[in-house]
Amino acid sequence: MDATQRLDALLVPELAALKQRSLYRLRRLVAGPQGPELDVDGTSLLNFSSNDYLGLAADPRLAEAAKRGLDEYGLGSGAAHLVTGHSTAHHALEEELAAFCGRPRALLFSSGYLANLGIAGALLGRGDRVLEDRLNHASLLDAGLLSGARFARYAHCDTVSLRRELGGETGTALVMTDGVFSMDGDIAPLPALAQTAETAGAFLSVDDAHGFGVIGTGGRGSLEHHGMDIAAVPVYMATLGKACGSFGAFVAGSDALIETLIQQARTYIYTTATPPALAEATRAALKLVETETWRRDHLHVLIARFRAGAQQLGLRLMESTTPIQPILVGEPEQALALSQQLKAQGVLVAAIRPPTVPAGTARLRITLTAIHTEAHVDRLLSALAVAKP
Ligand code: PMP
Repeated sequence: MDATQRLDALLVPELAALKQRSLYRLRRLVAGPQGPELDVDGTSLLNFSSNDYLGLAADPRLAEAAKRGLDEYGLGSGAAHLVTGHSTAHHALEEELAAFCGRPRALLFSSGYLANLGIAGALLGRGDRVLEDRLNHASLLDAGLLSGARFARYAHCDTVSLRRELGGETGTALVMTDGVFSMDGDIAPLPALAQTAETAGAFLSVDDAHGFGVIGTGGRGSLEHHGMDIAAVPVYMATLGKACGSFGAFVAGSDALIETLIQQARTYIYTTATPPALAEATRAALKLVETETWRRDHLHVLIARFRAGAQQLGLRLMESTTPIQPILVGEPEQALALSQQLKAQGVLVAAIRPPTVPAGTARLRITLTAIHTEAHVDRLLSALAVAKP
């Protein structure tokens, strides 16, 4: 056996085991733009699986802004931000994000995953502690684990459990939480978490990937939703590939926080800046997030309609007021079977299985977007009415 064959001999049985446990993941081949109808593997499906909550991903105004950016800057950024990659487009977007969030500064990262690794890596080291909600997104968990700080998880949204984990130790303690939980759709109790952190001398860092642009009347995310003083959450992070319909992420905070990230965050320093044209597209998106408030209003109408219909069908909804509306199923095989039956009826809903969610809580993750119609939601409900696990 040569080296390639020896490696394959290790990998093939592992892949077979995943298939046997209904945990094997397949990529769908999507042709054309994002939208309520998606061309998947050559078939048009009604799409309830994306994070394009405001329906901006295929908005022509974003594409036009990107094209203007391409004309002005060309494609590549050429280097990392600290070398020659930090363009006037990136800079303008950072200033606009900071103003939108009501914070002194904002810093762009190439992705949300990298932003979370950057935050924990820059703020924590050996001798420090990181405390995370049990249901945090993988990028937050990985960020905490890789930071070298002592890592602890607390029970989901549970300040009593957090207080216990925080108890009387020294060193910097950073509490990291999703603002809106990505696979559950519920909103973190940020005022109580901030108070608990404050009492223990710890700091709260919020990942608002699924809240930014979506909740709060102005679309400013989970802090606005709670009517919170933003100073209680010194580190605010959100992604740009969801409600903004674009790509990338940012951290907003004080001048000292942003300067610390620029100096210390390895995932900021050692990676190429994203194309400036992308920053131009995101600037256009941010304007629409701010001005087209009908998108959030319409989402609320759809969420209420879906929940009322699903309740009538006796489906196991979760406690969510956001566009993430999971239906709890249980075992991966059942979730997959349901997803396949929906697909056979022309409806695309992803089956979410461990390790993305805890064992025994496989689910259908239904996501609504501002460019779905009420008729689309009714079609989804009709399909769910006949699907059987
Ligand atoms: N945080 C959360 C809560 C997320 O859901 C995601 C993406 N699914 C990320 C971070 C990662 O963001 P990105 O896709 O930009 O890497």
